[in-house]
Amino acid sequence: MPVRVIRLLGDMEEDPASRQMLITGWRQDLIRNAKVLVVGAGALGNEIVKNLTLLGVGKIRVVDYDVVEGSNLSRAVLFTKADARRRVRKVDAIARGVKRLDPYGYIEVEAYHTDIMDHGPDSPLYNKIDVIFTALDNLEARLHVNTVAYMKRIPLIDGGMDGAMGHVQVVIPPYSSCLNCSVTDRDMKVLSEKLKCDGLPLTIGQPKTPAVITTTSVVAAIMVHEFIKIIHGLERFKKTGKWDERLGEPLMGKRLFINLASNKFIIYDVPISKTCVLHEL
Ligand SMILES: [Zn+2]
Repeated sequence: MPVRVIRLLGDMEEDPASRQMLITGWRQDLIRNAKVLVVGAGALGNEIVKNLTLLGVGKIRVVDYDVVEGSNLSRAVLFTKADARRRVRKVDAIARGVKRLDPYGYIEVEAYHTDIMDHGPDSPLYNKIDVIFTALDNLEARLHVNTVAYMKRIPLIDGGMDGAMGHVQVVIPPYSSCLNCSVTDRDMKVLSEKLKCDGLPLTIGQPKTPAVITTTSVVAAIMVHEFIKIIHGLERFKKTGKWDERLGEPLMGKRLFINLASNKFIIYDVPISKTCVLHEL
């Protein structure tokens, strides 16, 4: 083999993205130029940001108002024991964690220690964002971000867990149903309550939800893989109504329930609800 070819192959091996770039249709430039918003820096937020960092997403904005506690450490790869001891803000701990992990050296994290409920559609938090992830533990905040995402036409990827169960839903405004649609749909509501996959409104003394890293990892992996499909295929979908077959079609207008105890993965259609006001906008 000529020396130059060997050297080129050697250079490729040095690129952290080289293996994912072997996937047919993969565009690392789209990944690198993406700007995402992750709402919630808990267990799910950690796994999402970890995956985004390893993918090489250029700009990651993280919002959370909480501080790190010892109980987070079993499910939060970017937090340290020192973060918990010093009660560091979760967003700052995540930003430092990304700096340690970043194999590319270019990833920027913007950390916002604030309550998302205080930020409506005019908030700069949503500026120039390509995709929003909701990694929240309560329905109220989910629906708030859902409303803003729909108004601003930003794709939203939602996920949640309860023990061995989890869910993922993708909202592509204005084409798909939204999180609010499934809340007003009676069947989905019964299902949500039965499976306890939706967060409950924040109340004082609310019991803690059972949580384990295995479910968190699976949910976050599915969420971030949905992002890959959206970032590669959304422009084409807007023009042609078709997604890039090589990368796949996201869970648009659908909700995936997973149960790692029974190994059941079930996808439900979430139609646009006639009573959901967001689709009249
Ligand atoms: Zn809706």
